[in-house]
Amino acid sequence: MSRIYNFSAGPSILPLPVLEEAAAEFVDYGKSGMSLIEMSHRGKIYSEVNEKTIEMIRKIFGVPDTHKILFLGGGATLQFSMVPMNLLKGGKCDFTLTGSWAKKAYSDAVKVGTANVVFDGKADNYSSLPDAADINVDSGSAYLHMTSNETIGGIQWKDWPDTGNVPIVCDMSSDILSRSVPFEKFGLIYAGAQKNLGPAGVALVIIREDVLESCSEDLTAYLSYKVHAKGNSLYNTPPVFCIYMIMKVLEWLEKQGGLSGAVKMAEERSGMIYGAIDGSGGYYRSPVAKDCRSLMNIVWRLPSEELEKKFISEAASAGMAGLKGHRSVGGCRASVYNAMPVAGAKALADFMADFAAKNG
Ligand SMILES: *Cc1c(COP(=O)(O)O)cnc(C)c1O
Repeated sequence: MSRIYNFSAGPSILPLPVLEEAAAEFVDYGKSGMSLIEMSHRGKIYSEVNEKTIEMIRKIFGVPDTHKILFLGGGATLQFSMVPMNLLKGGKCDFTLTGSWAKKAYSDAVKVGTANVVFDGKADNYSSLPDAADINVDSGSAYLHMTSNETIGGIQWKDWPDTGNVPIVCDMSSDILSRSVPFEKFGLIYAGAQKNLGPAGVALVIIREDVLESCSEDLTAYLSYKVHAKGNSLYNTPPVFCIYMIMKVLEWLEKQGGLSGAVKMAEERSGMIYGAIDGSGGYYRSPVAKDCRSLMNIVWRLPSEELEKKFISEAASAGMAGLKGHRSVGGCRASVYNAMPVAGAKALADFMADFAAKNG
């Protein structure tokens, strides 16, 4: 077996012990004589997986009892629809347009109802964020939508606005469980799993009880948070394998020091790579404002597209994959999620210094 350092933005690296344990348990789960993916989702074994995964999210992330935890199929993209369908109810919401993902969420919201833009980063090509304190919401808004980390643009909110009684709804797909969160500000948090949590196909949704109470009653079953909450994420057959993998990732994360361990590792990894950018004398150039640099998705340019191609190809030969920037923006991107060993970031930073010295 040979494993490389996988810097892909998503699906992305998972902890090796998780993959190995899952492989060992795959055919005969817990001496049941069956794979977990062959058994009823209403049986004792899977019920325990469901319960345990929810409990571990609550414990590691510090989710208070005021918020309910759901696992829903369909990824974060389905949440772009479900949020406005459940929460707007003919009213309006406020939106921050901070990059590609925020714009996707916005374009779905305006198909459902009215969304007012309170920040648009278009003028500087979505490379910076305002002071959170400068975000003003309308007190009559159903919610303020934010994208905590723009996976493609590489920018990340470091602070949250004061929104009074207006709940923040936040897409945390690419930085969930890598930072602590003041839950009292958030009416709803959602995250597709395939960055920091597990395999693709499921979204984690954390919804405040009063927001849940206020959700629309007029939706078809699968689109209704109320239906899923009532069924404790077992209304229909859930993506059982994804949720089981999330449980294993959480067990692994607990051994790394839980959330505070994740925060520390995120700082170390990103510090090394931003250090390589800033220490290159301008050879590598970060297009994003320093005060909102993402700790999860680090983007940079080289002096030419030709050198970028060479960099990506030589890095791949040196065992570092997935460094090509998103097709919409070009350049290079290293996604350094929770499962990326600090040694992987170190290897990349060393490679960057070496490449700059040889190709400067
Ligand atoms: C990856 C990503 C999504 C989309 O997730 P899917 O699971 O593919 O629907 C949405 N928002 C952000 C911030 C992402 O990084």
